[in-house]
Amino acid sequence: MKFLYASFILIMILAGCTPATQEKSVPLTERIISEMSVDSPKKEKIVEPEKPVAEKNITVRVGIMENESEILFSCSGLFSLKSNGKTIFTKKKSQGSWKITVHNNNLLFENTDNGEVINIAGELVFIPDQISSFVRIGKVQSGKGWHWEDVKSRSYKGNIEFINVGGKITVVNEVGIEQYLYGVVPSEMSSQSPMEALKAQAVLARTNVFSKVGKKYKNKPYSLSSDVYSQVYTGIDKVNESTSRAVDETRGLILTYNGKPVEALFHSVCGGYLESNDVIWSSIQLPYLKAKPCMPDGEFKYGDLSKENNFRKWADSYPDSYCNLQGKVSGDKLSFARKYFRWETKHTRKKLEGIIKSSTGTDIGDLKDVAVVSRGPSGKAISVKVTGTKNSVTINKELNIRQKLSKPPLYSGNFYVKLGKKDKSGYPSDIVFKGAGFGHGTGMCQIGACGMADCGKKFQEILEFYFPGTRVSELDK
Ligand SMILES: [Zn+2]
Repeated sequence: MKFLYASFILIMILAGCTPATQEKSVPLTERIISEMSVDSPKKEKIVEPEKPVAEKNITVRVGIMENESEILFSCSGLFSLKSNGKTIFTKKKSQGSWKITVHNNNLLFENTDNGEVINIAGELVFIPDQISSFVRIGKVQSGKGWHWEDVKSRSYKGNIEFINVGGKITVVNEVGIEQYLYGVVPSEMSSQSPMEALKAQAVLARTNVFSKVGKKYKNKPYSLSSDVYSQVYTGIDKVNESTSRAVDETRGLILTYNGKPVEALFHSVCGGYLESNDVIWSSIQLPYLKAKPCMPDGEFKYGDLSKENNFRKWADSYPDSYCNLQGKVSGDKLSFARKYFRWETKHTRKKLEGIIKSSTGTDIGDLKDVAVVSRGPSGKAISVKVTGTKNSVTINKELNIRQKLSKPPLYSGNFYVKLGKKDKSGYPSDIVFKGAGFGHGTGMCQIGACGMADCGKKFQEILEFYFPGTRVSELDK
């Protein structure tokens, strides 16, 4: 028994399962949404989501498509149709598919099944008359320019608005916050993740509604996009029991700092070290988004990762951290994460010269060298110099570097460069980027959250670790 207990403790230590400490709080002056008030700061406590809140009355307007010339869609169930505030039909069962085009600056809706035609100047809104009603839209793009880019038909509950914006079609989904979150959580995180990690993600997704609405897209007919610039939302197709349960069991809970919704940032896997937000976005440094190891304090052994030698040793190793799932319960279910924890991307010299020419507009000639000039605290490349026979270019900022050195972008800015052997021309035949992690590395490391959940941590503790000094608060009832 003693041996078993000792083994358990040893496994917990090896898996990085020791408690995290809390960082000191600093006031955040910016109130992001004035209309939505949250609890005033109190002593830290774990909030149990027992009481229902008036969340059901909150709706969000999500941009699904824009600048389209033609859209195909179909409806399932009964709908009412409104245009510019006037009801056209109620409880209509729509057969077949619809095609929308723009003719003489009007939206032209043609039913491919019965030949019905609706000609509208401004907007047409499909309003569901049944809980089960939904609209299925063809060729919705997701993740443009990223590794997960795809185009497919997607289904949406809630109101679907087709709006004529300057002779092109914009599609907006106005949907209740719960239904929206049911669609966001499985779009942003694997439903195979442990429940406490999913609950942490659900709280962040809900927080994002309150921290982002009203900030961006002020001149658009929507307040959130359906991509990574707000958070990924793909309608109802990915909705599943576990992610919806995570939304339900955290109903009304958001993450706050000094009573305000936080910048609820997250990423796939940090690779073992979280980055400070100001390094990535050149913004003010938020006190709850500082660089630190993705593991309990005091256990990091590689020193200052902004120093090249330390960084290379760390990137070449497979260090213990919450997001290293080796030996953890989630290791098999989330095996896709392994290829992001440590990775390698190789380009031939010719290919990289072409990428740099198209991404920077500079013809560098033959590539002689690629060197990381400076790094952030987590080792993120924040300035890279590419030297060629004709020209040299310096590329700055983490995402910009990832995008300009590879298509699709490098998984993260945590990389160093290995030049291949010189070919006949005397220049490197290929260039290898050796890296760690996937995403910007700021806020919650999703795979790290899974590792913490495997160690028995609750979602409140996961959020406290990744956003030190914040608290889980209930929305006003
Ligand atoms: Zn991590």
